[in-house]
Amino acid sequence: MSIAENIAAIEQTLHGTAARLVVVTKTHPVERLREAYVAGARLFGENRVQEMAAKQPELPADVEWHQIGQLQTNKVKYLAAFVHTVQSVDSLRLLLELDKQAARHQRTINGLLQFHIAQEETKTGLNLDEAEAILQSADYQRMQHVRLTGVMGIATHSPDETLVRAEFQQLRHYFDKLKRTYFAQDESFREISMGMSADYQLAVAEGSTLVRVGSAIFGSRS
Ligand SMILES: *Cc1c(COP(=O)(O)O)cnc(C)c1O
Repeated sequence: MSIAENIAAIEQTLHGTAARLVVVTKTHPVERLREAYVAGARLFGENRVQEMAAKQPELPADVEWHQIGQLQTNKVKYLAAFVHTVQSVDSLRLLLELDKQAARHQRTINGLLQFHIAQEETKTGLNLDEAEAILQSADYQRMQHVRLTGVMGIATHSPDETLVRAEFQQLRHYFDKLKRTYFAQDESFREISMGMSADYQLAVAEGSTLVRVGSAIFGSRS
């Protein structure tokens, strides 16, 4: 199947749900991103800063670029001029740098708090206490150029649907808790980014608003 056919098939499964598609374009050349764009995709996810910064000028300006991989503070400056959402916010330090660099460009960068939901030790992310410490900090409350719009998580890579579903429910629970406590009046705090090629349908059933899908669109990454 072509990129366009794959996107259309996924969009069909998302139709009537709360979820939007983030096309994960990492490792793929710009021509394939253009194909996805022509097929209607507008939200693109990359996990390497240099790669995103190189591709961004080659695509139309209405693409929303989402950083989905861990982001080092010293690299924020390379994407601050254009990135729409950093889905991998895992520290106050990173938020401070995003705020500073966004201010330089007189813009606002959206952020999702990334939670650790998987069993695997290697997957990074916050726990609820750490997230609340960020939200309660005076530093965060002073920020004017970052806007937290929700949460993100990566489930365990496992065929065990019960486990994966429970992890998505956990992330949804974190979202609900933060929404109630810190963002009840803030309509822009509304995103739950969860689900990838292997598990996005489960994620959508559990309330995902952003699914991050790569290999189901482009084939496996070499
Ligand atoms: C690569 C990646 C994806 C997409 O994975 P696929 O299995 O190819 O759909 C989603 N989220 C994150 C954080 C990724 O790094």
